[in-house]
Amino acid sequence: MSKNVAAIVRGNKTIDLENWKIPELGPNDVLIAVSAVGICGSDLKYWAYGKCGRFSLDGVPMVIGHEAAGVIEEVGQNVKTLAVGDRVAIEPGISCKQCDHCISKRYNLCKKMRFCATPPVHGNLCQYYVHDADFCFKMPENISDEEGAMLEPLSVAIHTCRRANISKGSHVIIFGAGPIGILCGLVAKQRGATQVLTVDIDSHRLKIASEFGAADLTYCVDKSLQDVAVLATELQTIANDDGCHAALECSGADISLKTAVHVCRPGASVLLVGRGSAEVPLPMVKAGTFEIDIKGIFRYANTYPEAIELVSSKAIDVQRLITHRFDLESANEAFLTASDPHQRAIKVMIRC
Ligand SMILES: [Zn+2]
Ligand SMILES: [Zn+2]
Repeated sequence: MSKNVAAIVRGNKTIDLENWKIPELGPNDVLIAVSAVGICGSDLKYWAYGKCGRFSLDGVPMVIGHEAAGVIEEVGQNVKTLAVGDRVAIEPGISCKQCDHCISKRYNLCKKMRFCATPPVHGNLCQYYVHDADFCFKMPENISDEEGAMLEPLSVAIHTCRRANISKGSHVIIFGAGPIGILCGLVAKQRGATQVLTVDIDSHRLKIASEFGAADLTYCVDKSLQDVAVLATELQTIANDDGCHAALECSGADISLKTAVHVCRPGASVLLVGRGSAEVPLPMVKAGTFEIDIKGIFRYANTYPEAIELVSSKAIDVQRLITHRFDLESANEAFLTASDPHQRAIKVMIRC
């Protein structure tokens, strides 16, 4: 274990593979030999531009990666629930466990959250990684390491569908057929949604969403369309209902967010999963008189046990989303593939 190859980003569209010091093992920590790490949209932003949303590298190199699973190599002296050799999925955020948000179980809102590959916290696209045992989840035999890494994006979908109150009979409209939009569709169907209509500008992604059973109906938006009223009318014609119970905005496109409010039935929710412009004008009179709840989504909390159950019971097949696989030595190629629309990648997985 003398060497620990890590994938470092500097915001110049290059991955530098460097030998990285393994952090010290605290009494509540475990040392993990990382085996599989998925590449996420936020990883690509740090890789390409050195920043993502309100977080920035500020010139400091960072180990990338936050969707990971691996095998425990060593446990801290206080760790009783995990043992050497256990295969675990890593929940990438470590919260303070003491503030109001943590105590009320909404620890994703913790101000002291230390989240993998969010500056100044390093990620886990490396060979060896130290993490708080409370945020490592032992996986049953029938979940692969790659599936373990997929529990992270699946968690976003679970958190979103919970906050959207999606249940038996729900009609749902999802904007964006990327990995998160597809996973949201799968979780919504699993929760009993009777109609999921997925909207995107990419017909190939919509085809995949249908094939995976994540969408009952799809609509491909013409890129040049900027008229919210036209788009809302089109979607309402296809949905052929009284509006949706929940509109999940997973695209980050401003027009989708505006349209989301218009396609809601009274009492419905709009979920802000994707990140678009900092300020977007919305139809607030409609939102007010229809009592539409506009809800933020920031990562997730308390989702890993349910995610493990959904994958272990075969209720959701996350493996199908993995379109490309690379070894850690080929991390550069992996990031180029994930960022190139022509490659049609859904999820790129790196084996460490
Ligand atoms: Zn992610
Ligand atoms: Zn806290």
